[in-house]
Amino acid sequence: MIFKRKLLIPKEIKEMYPISEEGVLAKAANDAAIRAVIRGESDKLLLVIGPCSADREDAVIEYISRLRSLQERVADKIVIVPRIYTNKPRTTGAGYKGMLHQPNPQAQSDMLRGLISIRKLHMRALNETGFSCADEMLYPENHRFLDDLLSYVAVGARSVEDQQHRLTASGLDIPVGMKNPTGGDLSVMMNALKAAQSGHTFIYRNWEVESQGNPLAHAILRGYVDSHGITHPNYHYEDLSRLCELYAGSGLQNPAVIVDTNHCNSGKQYEEQVRIAKEVLHSTRHSTDIHALVKGMMIESYLEDGCQKPDGGVYGKSITDPCLGWEKTERLVLDLAELWV
Ligand code: PEP
Ligand code: MN
Repeated sequence: MIFKRKLLIPKEIKEMYPISEEGVLAKAANDAAIRAVIRGESDKLLLVIGPCSADREDAVIEYISRLRSLQERVADKIVIVPRIYTNKPRTTGAGYKGMLHQPNPQAQSDMLRGLISIRKLHMRALNETGFSCADEMLYPENHRFLDDLLSYVAVGARSVEDQQHRLTASGLDIPVGMKNPTGGDLSVMMNALKAAQSGHTFIYRNWEVESQGNPLAHAILRGYVDSHGITHPNYHYEDLSRLCELYAGSGLQNPAVIVDTNHCNSGKQYEEQVRIAKEVLHSTRHSTDIHALVKGMMIESYLEDGCQKPDGGVYGKSITDPCLGWEKTERLVLDLAELWV
């Protein structure tokens, strides 16, 4: 390994690109609205929605600006948290690893420019649309580059069994969605929630730190792959019932699930997200326990339908997982607002 250059620390980058006073207030208001849903104090539906990866600033800002207008139309029923996913876990390590690594997907990795680009993107979203957004916490030590800007983080299916992710989640004051692992074992996810909701002493960024436990840590169901490589969903009524049972015996606070409608739940058939989201709402109408548990959905959506190769060049079309395009997204969000009771 070659140590190429020493990077700036979070404090230095935050001093270069500080959050505005209005931004602080907007994030506080967003945090309160999102927390209230996870705690069951608000009966609105949480939609963590946006592209699989935030590949370019202009298209992401345009997309999130459209979400802002949509949010105003469904404000009585839905709380939107845009996905700005700036670092991507890769199954084999190959491929685009996100804006953090490659601020220009066509160019070589540049981690310093990456750190600055992701902060600027999240900050622009907050300043121009009032949304403090969601990102994946892929590298726990990097969370502090963005902690003043994020309202939600997810721990991905490939990270959820990792101790540093769990302990870092236990020290955050925003909701952390912890996904079921790629193999589908729900006990791994429940153990992650137990760890994240408990306090710990550990090492973080070269400090001995103490966390209080995060009562807002909750489950995300994203489907799974079995030992034969076959994809299975876990969003059906029976899966949600099973999760109710697991929560009931767990002693965990704020039982909550967000259903990821893409990934192994759709088998990446992105258009199926429409049916899956509606099926989940249907399930909530047939069980008060499921209704209480389901807090929302995670939807992969962008300006254009589908996906393309990283050098495809179509503005607003995903270069990682296939996404629902804008027209279908708008229709779906309006339908969900109508259907959610
Ligand atoms: C994602 O949300 O784009 C993602 C990578 O999810 P998962 O960890 O479920 O594969
Ligand atoms: Mn994805």
